Amino acid sequence: MANLPRVIAHVDIDCFFASAEIVRNTSLVGKPVVVAGSSPRGVVLSPNYEARRFGIRSAMPVETAKKLCPSAVYLAANHHYYSDLSKRFRLVLESVTPYVEMISVDEAFLDLSGTSLTLGAPSEAVKYIRERILDETSLTCSIGVGSSKTVAKIASQLAKPKVSRDQVSYGTGVLIVQPTEERKFLATLPVSYLPGIGPKSESKLASIGVVKVSDLERIPRSTIEKIFGKSTEFLLDCGKGNDLREVDVSRRKKSLGHETTFDQDVGDVKKVRAHLQDLCVEVAEGLFRSNLAAKTVTLKLKYADFTTSTHSRTTGQILVTSRDLSDQVLDMYDRLQMKGPIRLAGLSVSGLLPRVHAHQLFLLDETTDRDRYKDLEETVFEVRRRYGREAVYKGPRIRPERQ
Ligand SMILES: [Mg+2]
Repeated sequence: MANLPRVIAHVDIDCFFASAEIVRNTSLVGKPVVVAGSSPRGVVLSPNYEARRFGIRSAMPVETAKKLCPSAVYLAANHHYYSDLSKRFRLVLESVTPYVEMISVDEAFLDLSGTSLTLGAPSEAVKYIRERILDETSLTCSIGVGSSKTVAKIASQLAKPKVSRDQVSYGTGVLIVQPTEERKFLATLPVSYLPGIGPKSESKLASIGVVKVSDLERIPRSTIEKIFGKSTEFLLDCGKGNDLREVDVSRRKKSLGHETTFDQDVGDVKKVRAHLQDLCVEVAEGLFRSNLAAKTVTLKLKYADFTTSTHSRTTGQILVTSRDLSDQVLDMYDRLQMKGPIRLAGLSVSGLLPRVHAHQLFLLDETTDRDRYKDLEETVFEVRRRYGREAVYKGPRIRPERQ
């Protein structure tokens, strides 16, 4: 299971606002439809493909659009309605995998790396996702798949229907780029397809002879650095398909934690340590339930005199189990000079990432013991999930009052 190739999908609803209007008014089917800002100097927010045939584009002044196609149907935006559809879109995605990063109302990255058992190969998975979205929202979307966000996003753009003056050609709405093909796939594309390249950077790059992605490799790095500074490395990496950005589920949840206020201040070091271990179990269970792992753990202690101290630690090790947490937390506590009586202890984790990635790192790790511990703990949490918290209790038997 070690080193599974990453499978990232980018899902993007086609002409979201315009399509949404057509869904609730079928008399618009086949007509050019433009959703626009309602002020007199408004801009086009979303033209459907029929409207694009006339050259209408997003962000174009409505006045210009009306010159290009006076007969199009111009509609004001209904954001409440769109946000309701967007929620349904997100719920479909989250029912497929917990690893969803919403980029905007109609766009998301999904990490499908661990889904081959439940959803099959990426080609079957995305077909299923596309059908589910159509069922739930009546909207079509385009899906790109690659081993990185860069490739997935470009692939979804290329999977979109093609518009010419005469016609709109609808394809399958899906483009999957195989890992071995990615470099070749990127090489011939205009450099503006790479993340962070807007019209300004594009013309600067053109001035030094970079038009296609592959041109980046011919130009001395120092020349590119003059334009992009610190971002140079990221740009060059993306151009080679080495975009290591993860699907950031923490956009949904940034941290996760638990706090305990004691009935009476606790001064005994052994008892404090036991309480901290108990908190580690609570937080580990929270991670398990959210299907997440963490990079950073933070300990907060409030002393009897109401002073508070917080201590964070990021070791590079991915934190999954209560033992991963308690190794760090107890060590932090043991190193504290100030050990007066404590009235509150809190523990939180941040730097959250999908558990499946932690699992991979885990197996590369030396310890099968650690792996066994994780399995055992997950079983305990699973039993607790099914049969209630009292079914199995793990950790020291101290039951502090919980808030
Ligand atoms: Mg879209």
